[in-house]
Amino acid sequence: MKTYNFQTIEKKWQKIWQKSKIFRGRDKSKKPKFYCLDMFPYPSAEGLHVGHLRGYTFSDVIAKKRMMEGFNVLHPMGWDAFGLPAENFAIKTGIHPAISTKKAIKNIKKQLLSAGFGYDWQREITTCQPDYYKWTQWMFLQLYKRDLAYKKEAAVNFCPSCKTVLANEQVIDGRCERCNSLVEKKYLEQWFFKITDYAERLLNDLNKIDWPEKIKIMQRNWIGRSVGSEIIFQIGIGETYLNLPVFTTRADTLFGCTYVVIAPEHPLIEKLKPEIKNWKKTEKYIEEAKKKTEIERLAEEKEKTGIELKGIKAINPVNNQKVPIFVADYVLMEYGTGAIMAVPGHDQRDFIFAQKYGLPIVEVIKPKTGSSVFPEANARAFEEDGVLTNSGSFNGLDSARAREEITKYLEKRNLAKKAVYYKLKDWLISRQRYWGAPIPIVYCKKCGEVEVPEKDLPVKLPKIKDFKPTGKGESPLAKSEKFVKIKCPKCGSPAKRETDTLDTFVCSSWYFLRYTDPKNKKEFASKKRVKNWLPVDLYIGGAEHAVMHLLYSRFFIKALFDQKLIDFSEPFSKLFNQGIVYRLGAKMSKSKGNVVTPDYIFKKFGADTMRLYELFMGPSEQATEWSDKGVIGCYRFLNKVWNLQQKLKIKNQKLKIKIKNKKIEKLVHKTIKKVTEDIENFRFNTAVSALMILTNEFEREEQLSIINYQLLLKLLAPLAPHLSEEIWHRLNNISINQPNQHKSASIFFEKWPKYEPKLIKEETITLVIQINGRVRDKIEVEASLSEEEAKKLTLEREKVKKWIEDKEVKKIIFVPGKLINIVV
Ligand SMILES: [Zn+2]
Ligand SMILES: [Zn+2]
Repeated sequence: MKTYNFQTIEKKWQKIWQKSKIFRGRDKSKKPKFYCLDMFPYPSAEGLHVGHLRGYTFSDVIAKKRMMEGFNVLHPMGWDAFGLPAENFAIKTGIHPAISTKKAIKNIKKQLLSAGFGYDWQREITTCQPDYYKWTQWMFLQLYKRDLAYKKEAAVNFCPSCKTVLANEQVIDGRCERCNSLVEKKYLEQWFFKITDYAERLLNDLNKIDWPEKIKIMQRNWIGRSVGSEIIFQIGIGETYLNLPVFTTRADTLFGCTYVVIAPEHPLIEKLKPEIKNWKKTEKYIEEAKKKTEIERLAEEKEKTGIELKGIKAINPVNNQKVPIFVADYVLMEYGTGAIMAVPGHDQRDFIFAQKYGLPIVEVIKPKTGSSVFPEANARAFEEDGVLTNSGSFNGLDSARAREEITKYLEKRNLAKKAVYYKLKDWLISRQRYWGAPIPIVYCKKCGEVEVPEKDLPVKLPKIKDFKPTGKGESPLAKSEKFVKIKCPKCGSPAKRETDTLDTFVCSSWYFLRYTDPKNKKEFASKKRVKNWLPVDLYIGGAEHAVMHLLYSRFFIKALFDQKLIDFSEPFSKLFNQGIVYRLGAKMSKSKGNVVTPDYIFKKFGADTMRLYELFMGPSEQATEWSDKGVIGCYRFLNKVWNLQQKLKIKNQKLKIKIKNKKIEKLVHKTIKKVTEDIENFRFNTAVSALMILTNEFEREEQLSIINYQLLLKLLAPLAPHLSEEIWHRLNNISINQPNQHKSASIFFEKWPKYEPKLIKEETITLVIQINGRVRDKIEVEASLSEEEAKKLTLEREKVKKWIEDKEVKKIIFVPGKLINIVV
């Protein structure tokens, strides 16, 4: 027998599988469908490292197992090809992003093919190609028609180094997610998607989907729903009053409000300007505040600053007290109403601020039990709920009730209403960059903003030489006159194109729909195909996309659902996040120099070894350290499986081999059960170790039955497909005359093994029951009986009850597999 020559075997099967297209999803099939999706990669010039391949290995194992279980599996792959890295690379090297992207795709595709992944390459999509982004633009227009896309001047996050605007989600701790530069605020005209319209549904529908709880929590926090009251403070100016609404979740503390604070950007300031006695100083403060980033303004450790607007007061609606108005940078216009009521007695931030500016601190909430902590212990505000005091007719009510009552009382006077606020902001989608899908809008002097008609899509990205961003908040496309100049689609007069491009997250918000019908020229996908395949049954990818891609896609699907373009409202029924791969203590990355390329492993140990190690290295959802030793261990295991062929001794046994071996038989069926359940629950590492145990047992036996060997190969097939397929075919050739052997074209057309429940039954033992050290009873129990179960079983027995009578059980001693002793 030949030794395990993985290089020949793997190349051979990769070719055969690609040619026969055995892993393709069938649009017409009677089998139940299973849509297994990977987050598609960004085609970077560096290619993929072994860390990237972990999640892909998981999805490939599940897809292949589902195929063997009789499902019609869709497992596609494509390229998230627009975006900054290719463009930055282009700026540095002068190579056009279209060319560098194409090259990167070719390289990564080769890596994926070499790993033996069963993607349906007939459905490959590339988001930077016009046949794809035509539909991205079309999607934009659908949202635009429903007023879910709009343009406005806004304070935006601007990265001075990338020279572009960033979405809130792309700013991490005040820094650019890509290049780590401090993000600046800029006021620019920008396009937004009105994701805030969907805040409530995005929140509620999280209950409908099978996603990791940590991702759901991140989305809930990001959406940030808070329920409270909007209360109106009035500001008297001459004979009239201006309304200043504030949002609070603590209406119960309203009597304790001794000042209000408004954001430096609050539009009311302009109206109040003539009344403000210290305008010069105020103006200076506002200018300073505008230069700061949101993070700087909100920093916990930073001392809060503010300036009182002299000459005007606000009226506390519940007690008509006139309170001072401050402008302070820690209040943001984007959140709530841009104004807050300050209650220094019951809010620590207000407390510190009040002490600094000598403002009154009033106790209006007492603890429910115990004595008042106020004002003796006034080093801190009392922030908990309690009972109202110093609150007029509301005294004695508890906080929860008082929130209702005070809001109701003011509601009757039109000075309050119940309100819900969200932290979620609209999604900023325009980018002043070259390498993205152009926004299909035209500006006409007569007609204003005009959408590009569907028949004129796609608006093709022009080939330009100078793709450097201008840094003035203008896209490089603005430099191409040929692109900009156009006739208005409505009236025909000279007009200009929008020169901003779409955030790449727009391209990736719907790509999984396109896989169902990637070549359709008339629709983004036919309704029938989308209905056949969607929603995605299993989505595998990194947790870093929690509040970006995974939220945006949900929004997109809901918007398309509302437009009756699709009939489901959640894109991904089940989500799994694979753990990150570390090496030498850090996340694998080229900059840290700790990358292992799959190409190296393919060459040295083979794709099957790499796959097996990705599965075996640790719990699938946890971060795990890469170990070269572990790789070798997996390689040895595959060699063992290969060498088991020698144990078949087929010639001597007339092929009708069914070696009776109870112990082996049992282990085989236990392994089938374990591997089946483990893969189902993403416990790939323990599935591999169960297969290793079985292999070791086989090795110890003098001869091996072909049936048992075939069962091992079927279980191993999704994990190590090349080796399993190769041995499968060898066995079929050997046993060609055997009537009960299928002559199958592929192991993946075989049925996934089922275990025999009879064979995996636990062994039983005799448990001796003692009472005060004397044997009184015996029972037959399963060997694995737990202490809890043993106690329950014993105490329920009539004989035992008789011995105990009504004496008190003092102690129970349990010796697993042997005895239980009850001390009374
Ligand atoms: Zn940047
Ligand atoms: Zn016009």
